[in-house]
Amino acid sequence: MEMMEDVAIVGAGIAVLAIAVALKRVGIRALVLEKSKGLRSTGTALTLTPNAWLPLMLLVFLTSSSPFILLHSIPEKFKKSSSYLDVVRHADLSTLTWAPLKFRQPWGIIFGKLSKGNVTVAGDAMHPMTPDLGQGGGSSLEDAVVLGRHIGNSFINNGGLIVPGDMAKAIDDYLKERRWRTAFLVTGSYLAGWVQLGGDKWWMKFLRDGIFYKYLFGRISGLVHKDCGKLPAMSFGDMDHSSKKD
Ligand SMILES: Cc1cc2nc3c(=O)[nH]c(=O)nc-3n(C[C@H](O)[C@H](O)[C@H](O)COP(=O)(O)OP(=O)(O)OC[C@H]3O[C@@H](n4cnc5c(N)ncnc54)[C@H](O)[C@@H]3O)c2cc1C
Repeated sequence: MEMMEDVAIVGAGIAVLAIAVALKRVGIRALVLEKSKGLRSTGTALTLTPNAWLPLMLLVFLTSSSPFILLHSIPEKFKKSSSYLDVVRHADLSTLTWAPLKFRQPWGIIFGKLSKGNVTVAGDAMHPMTPDLGQGGGSSLEDAVVLGRHIGNSFINNGGLIVPGDMAKAIDDYLKERRWRTAFLVTGSYLAGWVQLGGDKWWMKFLRDGIFYKYLFGRISGLVHKDCGKLPAMSFGDMDHSSKKD
């Protein structure tokens, strides 16, 4: 079956699936390409901080008004159940995997080339980070809304058409909005891991307790309260009214 869409997105992970939904919300159909043949049984639970809940609620429910109600109700459920301990006790050790931690240096994100014409990157492909703030998935959801907003604005301003020349500008605007934000997250994650796992030498204790927790931690943890904004409202046609050719 031949398919033609104006937007193709590669790798059906958190970033790409969220981008596909964001584009659908603004009326653009996208082709998602994934190398894996099916769903895999490996995976992990994700911590979702407010900056992740806001885009998630926007993409799933088209409203960002109730994430905090959900955040409060989840721990209550866990208190009543000890079944999560059984999950750990009965874990199949043969399914455990490990991989080296990787991150992109912040200056690579701020000054690096992250697009070529109409092609760009999002999620871990743009800003791989260490896990110390639990922000890889959340920042991928932010990417999706910001990219969806810039592509959506271009699409709407051009009367429901994807105009290649305008798309490069939409991508530039997306990167402008994301570079510093994600560079701070990568740096904050790295710093948090470095001081917390840095051992008990006197100078590390001084860095951790005298500087990091006193002056930096509040600012770094404040990063998780960012609201990445909304998607443009559709002002014409139906959903899926893209410039798809038959
Ligand atoms: C153990 C662990 C715990 C984590 N905990 C958290 C957490 O608590 N909170 C949080 O926010 N983040 C967390 N993260 C980070 C988060 O999972 C990642 O940042 C996020 O999944 C990145 O999303 P992505 O879409 O960029 O990439 P991925 O989710 O990795 O998806 C990439 C997809 O692309 C596909 N692909 C790769 N190459 C190709 C190709 N050439 N062609 C086609 N398809 C391709 C892959 O098969 C995959 O499906 C955790 C990560 C790990 C490993």
